[in-house]
Amino acid sequence: MDNFVVSARKYRPATFDTVVGQAHITTTLKNAILTNHLAQAFLFCGPRGVGKTTCARILAKTINCQNLGKSEAVEPCDHCDSCVSFNQNASFNIHELDAASNNSVEDIRNLIDQVRYPPQSGQYKIYIIDEVHMLSQAAFNAFLKTLEEPPSYAIFILATTEKHKILPTILSRCQLFDFNRIQPRDIADHLASIAQKEGIQTEYEALELIAQKADGGLRDALSMFDLNVTFSEDRILRYKEVLENLHILDYDYYFRLTDLLLAGNLPQSMLLFDEILRKGFDGHQFIVGLSEHFRNLLVCKDVATIQLLQVTESIQQKYLQQATEAPLSFLLSALSVGAQCDLNYKSAKNQRLHVEVCLMKLANLPNVLDIHAVPVLSSHSEPRNPEQAEKKKDSSADRDALATNREPVALPSHTSEPTNGYHPQPNGNGTAKPLPERSPVIAEIPKPVGSKLRTTSNLVSVERPVATMADAVATALAEAPEMIKVDKPFTFEELQTVWQTYARMRDQQDGSRTEQVMLNREFRLEGTMIHIALDNSLQANLLNDLRQDLLTYLRRELQNSQIQLTDTIALQETRKMIYTPQDKFNYLAEKNPALLELKRTLGLDVDY
Ligand SMILES: [Zn+2]
Repeated sequence: MDNFVVSARKYRPATFDTVVGQAHITTTLKNAILTNHLAQAFLFCGPRGVGKTTCARILAKTINCQNLGKSEAVEPCDHCDSCVSFNQNASFNIHELDAASNNSVEDIRNLIDQVRYPPQSGQYKIYIIDEVHMLSQAAFNAFLKTLEEPPSYAIFILATTEKHKILPTILSRCQLFDFNRIQPRDIADHLASIAQKEGIQTEYEALELIAQKADGGLRDALSMFDLNVTFSEDRILRYKEVLENLHILDYDYYFRLTDLLLAGNLPQSMLLFDEILRKGFDGHQFIVGLSEHFRNLLVCKDVATIQLLQVTESIQQKYLQQATEAPLSFLLSALSVGAQCDLNYKSAKNQRLHVEVCLMKLANLPNVLDIHAVPVLSSHSEPRNPEQAEKKKDSSADRDALATNREPVALPSHTSEPTNGYHPQPNGNGTAKPLPERSPVIAEIPKPVGSKLRTTSNLVSVERPVATMADAVATALAEAPEMIKVDKPFTFEELQTVWQTYARMRDQQDGSRTEQVMLNREFRLEGTMIHIALDNSLQANLLNDLRQDLLTYLRRELQNSQIQLTDTIALQETRKMIYTPQDKFNYLAEKNPALLELKRTLGLDVDY
């Protein structure tokens, strides 16, 4: 079995010209070599796998090449002794230190010791320190002196993925080079050229997919490329297989979902989300991807920002197309809803529902924003009232009339904005039948071919409950975008029953005597505000401890989130309590003075 060499190593660029996507760096380095203005310390910054170490090696090889300057191109000759030893990884003029694993003062001291000896052959010794931000503070300090005054034959190339962690003292001693993320298109092209050399057939979309997933890192892209080649049995890279291997959610889902959301089609959107979940994708991944999709549509809205769309040609066309259909107001609101969902996803107890609520809000956006409203058609706009809706759907004649009436008027707006209004579609009778876009439920119910009347009546019976539910959710969402609240009205008697149940519950759980007295105080109801009159501050304190628990219970049992509780301490703390029979009689007599008359007439007295 042949030794398999990973593509990232096998196709590591050996000349400046073959470095992918970093032309601004390679040109500068070549010019510096050409004009003999080479700095002695470089800092290469940039994401992982974009060619920092590769460029450092090419630089080392080039400046040591014995034939340099004999031709116009500033590239190593690949034939001289120095180039050959570089190619065999046997050159003594290049030293690499991985600071991630060798970050102590000792490691740096060893390096500094080596710097003292000039190269035995060739002109320069090159020291590459990778992940230089990982060096310890002491190691940095030990290194500073050498970095400031290196011997003339020494060149330091520091590489880092995290520039902000580099001390200013180091930064000021180095020439900075910022490496770019490599554009997806460049990566895809590079992969295509490798595939050709390796005799691997590829679908270009598959390579685009790898390029997208690699997020600007060529090394990552090459590893994924190798992985997919290994997976494929016949050495053909197909889009569908790569999609599966890399576990990427197909763009197509987002395009389809956005179409559904723009049409306000909640049921189909939720089904599509279900399909995505069943394919093993995570809800969070989905919502992040969807937000990214909206963002991509948004940047398509302006000619100036289209360049921010980092996708390949074929997908860009799809984005531009959908962007014309999605109004700006929709995209902005959708991005906000998506961001909210993303932010709270981790803390949500029911994460599936969390995403579904997000979809409900998104599907409701066209209604809220009224993006389909066309001034000419406003009088005919979709009725919100189910009764009206029924009337309208009941009469198919009405509908036909509507279609013929509307068509000429609505036509100009159709051409400008395809999602607007009605699209006439020819049916069996050869007449145009309107397809309302705003309630696509209707469109998706299979319609029996034949009697038109039957179709209509079927529609009403099947579709109405769905429409009513969707309407109810939509209305609720529009009124309270943050959460679905459906507050039920309740009577004072219902409140009393629930309250007493609560009091009994407390009694069973070690409720104190005072607490029971407090809970049995009289209260009255004003709207959703409960006023309770307490005897003293002790009861008030008890109530305060209990308030949240009590309110939660009441709101839940009565299904009304608006219930509030307020207490007043009655000024009767000093009121005479009714203890003795005499007290009782006086109390009763106060209520009904006839008792006094009775007592006097019959000559009665209180029994002690
Ligand atoms: Zn050479």
